Amino acid sequence: MSFAANALKSFRAVSKISANRAYSSVASGAVKTNPAYIAGAAAVAGVAGFCMYSSLANSKVALESTLKGDNAWVDLKLSKIETLSSNTKEFTFELPKDETLGLTYTSCLLAKYVTPKGSNVIRPYTPISDLDTPGTFTVLIKRYETGKFGNHIFGLNVNDTVSFKGPIPKYPYTANKHNEIGLIGGGTGIAPLFQLIRAVSKNPADKTKVSLFYGNVSEDDILLKKELEEIQSKNPEQFKFHFFVDKAGSDWKGQTGFITKDYLKENLFPSSADNVHVFVCGPPPLYNAISGNKVSPTDQGEVTGALAELGFTKEQVFKF
Ligand SMILES: Cc1cc2nc3c(=O)[nH]c(=O)nc-3n(C[C@H](O)[C@H](O)[C@H](O)COP(=O)(O)OP(=O)(O)OC[C@H]3O[C@@H](n4cnc5c(N)ncnc54)[C@H](O)[C@@H]3O)c2cc1C
Repeated sequence: MSFAANALKSFRAVSKISANRAYSSVASGAVKTNPAYIAGAAAVAGVAGFCMYSSLANSKVALESTLKGDNAWVDLKLSKIETLSSNTKEFTFELPKDETLGLTYTSCLLAKYVTPKGSNVIRPYTPISDLDTPGTFTVLIKRYETGKFGNHIFGLNVNDTVSFKGPIPKYPYTANKHNEIGLIGGGTGIAPLFQLIRAVSKNPADKTKVSLFYGNVSEDDILLKKELEEIQSKNPEQFKFHFFVDKAGSDWKGQTGFITKDYLKENLFPSSADNVHVFVCGPPPLYNAISGNKVSPTDQGEVTGALAELGFTKEQVFKF
């Protein structure tokens, strides 16, 4: 997920042309040019006609994918709405009983609504639920004061529907692909970072060490805190999570202020370490300070900011 200005701009720009075609061209253009997308798409396509296999009750069950990458919009019913913070909610949708979304780690999807005047409003979102669980999926969405999609979905009720299409592969992750990963994010930028944490934590065979550096305005704004703390407490040697807030209450035990180069130098693996990778997702100021912005959905751009100063190269950093 790029919350970076450039990524937002490109998604906006394409949505002005023709929502349907433009978003698919983001995905298919990416498939043509970016090895990450190629591998991701291949992984999706490779699983037998968009079927996935999941171990249920110790038996292999073939699961159909609801989103087939065929450019079709699928209407899905809202089954649960949960408030996470003052401006962020979790929206859970129903899938047909034995189907998964059809996304691989890590991917996002597109959501659409049509305004009363007939304009398409299309935005990418990143599921935070287990991508292999059939019958349901969850996204977390932040509402901005003038945000079109955010205000639309915050006005919906259980049993209303939203149109989705995808998948849009991002970084293709497989177990033990890296020795260690560093995740740096802010606000709803946790969504794709949480997908990675989920991929590692749900697989006992995945020994990848995970360090998360996660910034928010206040302690109440920390999204998925309970889930993150549970994962960390089960395996503190493998998962080390560092929470930052701008405004700390008197009993705050985490870090106060922004994620800095000096803090990363002390607490993240060095850039010289073998087979390590850093993932970044957050608002534009976070990208500016930590990694530099993406140029476009298919061009990661140079690494600048704190990570560049710490010696990390383009090959070691992925900006969602
Ligand atoms: C690949 C990808 C994955 C994403 N995944 C998620 C996700 O899982 N959850 C989620 O909540 N969002 C996610 N986003 C952002 C999301 O797609 C929308 O951009 C966001 O929800 C705002 O849409 P909107 O229609 O409500 O606001 P818009 O109508 O697009 O914007 C309204 C106002 O809000 C401001 N604004 C919009 N987005 C931001 C921002 N990120 N930071 C600061 N100001 C902003 C705009 O400048 C504008 O003034 C993702 C984005 C990308 C590119």
